[in-house]
Amino acid sequence: MSAPAAPEAGAVPTTENCRFCWMCRHACPVGHVTHRETYTPHAWALEIESVRRGQIVWDASTVSVLYACADCGLCRAHCATDQPLPDAIVAERAAITAAGAAPAAVYDVERRLRRHVESGAAARSSNGPRRASSTVGLFVGDISDAARARAVESTIALLAAAGVPVTEVGADRPTGRTAASLGLRDVAVDLARAVIDDVQSAGIDELLVLAPGDRWAFESVYADRLGLEWPKGVRVTDAIVVLARALAAGALSFGAPKDLPPYAYHDPCHTPRLARDYAAPRALAAAALGPDAARPFFWREHRAHPCGAIGGLNVTHPDIAARLAAARVDDARAAGARWIVTEDPACSAHLAAHASGGVEVQNLFELLHERLVTSSRPTSGR
Ligand code: SF4
Ligand code: SF4
Repeated sequence: MSAPAAPEAGAVPTTENCRFCWMCRHACPVGHVTHRETYTPHAWALEIESVRRGQIVWDASTVSVLYACADCGLCRAHCATDQPLPDAIVAERAAITAAGAAPAAVYDVERRLRRHVESGAAARSSNGPRRASSTVGLFVGDISDAARARAVESTIALLAAAGVPVTEVGADRPTGRTAASLGLRDVAVDLARAVIDDVQSAGIDELLVLAPGDRWAFESVYADRLGLEWPKGVRVTDAIVVLARALAAGALSFGAPKDLPPYAYHDPCHTPRLARDYAAPRALAAAALGPDAARPFFWREHRAHPCGAIGGLNVTHPDIAARLAAARVDDARAAGARWIVTEDPACSAHLAAHASGGVEVQNLFELLHERLVTSSRPTSGR
């Protein structure tokens, strides 16, 4: 089956609007950690428009610059006119990738994901959804990643303790959002279609997700970038919000904190581009780690910087991915924290790989599972 047509751009290209605008420059995390004007929102727009005008061409150098954007959404989240600059950058990458001019690392990712699509189709025909007992699903995702597998197991245990049994959906399925960010549109469509098929066959009316990035994929990337329709009647909810409601209702409790270090809660990558309950993960962290141990990041909530495990930067610009992580660790240390806590397993794994100077990283789902004491009431309060 061929990929659906890409959604059409407006009459005036976003990049035309952005190329001489500096109004979100301060929000761009890549510009913040690299101190390079070339790596700021208006500069990426100007680059695209300069190619369009024939002033420069896409070559190894200019393409490398285009792939330095993290696709984090902070520019659009801080734009007074809601310009979809990240979508415009990704659309340009898709054209470059289709022309065979993307960085070699992008095609390595394409080959790996293509194998995933083919092997996943075979697995699905023999496995089907696990624990298919509930109309509430949990998006499992690519559990070949050990950090994600641990977070999934902890989340299922926590939800069960909260009185919310789940049907596991999309095991071993990447969402396709990273492929879409890299301009690998065809493979992104195939991955997304496989997820949508799983959701439709699972018999659920609500799908819980581990992290904002998954919700952004289902609510925005599929429609806005891939031209795909999410199954009608299936709402997408952050699992952490369901657990916070259970905590508030008295259906979950955690061991009394003792001698635990001060911590900073990291809002996961993609948080600023979503409507999100910022209080939910913080309430859970406070319950497990103590009400006075939180040390807020400066870059948090609607201005939260990504950790670096985003947009495929790990493969195209690992140096920038590492600098973004180091900036989070530095920010935590400056706030007086010795732990960084976050629920997104990709964020916790990436930050842990770059932690230094006495700062450690904990996954919030795993931490909550370790400190879970009892279910004091039979219902979750949902
Ligand atoms: S996204 Fe908005 S604020 Fe940022 S450069 Fe474009 S027009 Fe300006
Ligand atoms: S998506 Fe993120 S990294 Fe890219 S231009 Fe916008 S703020 Fe900067």
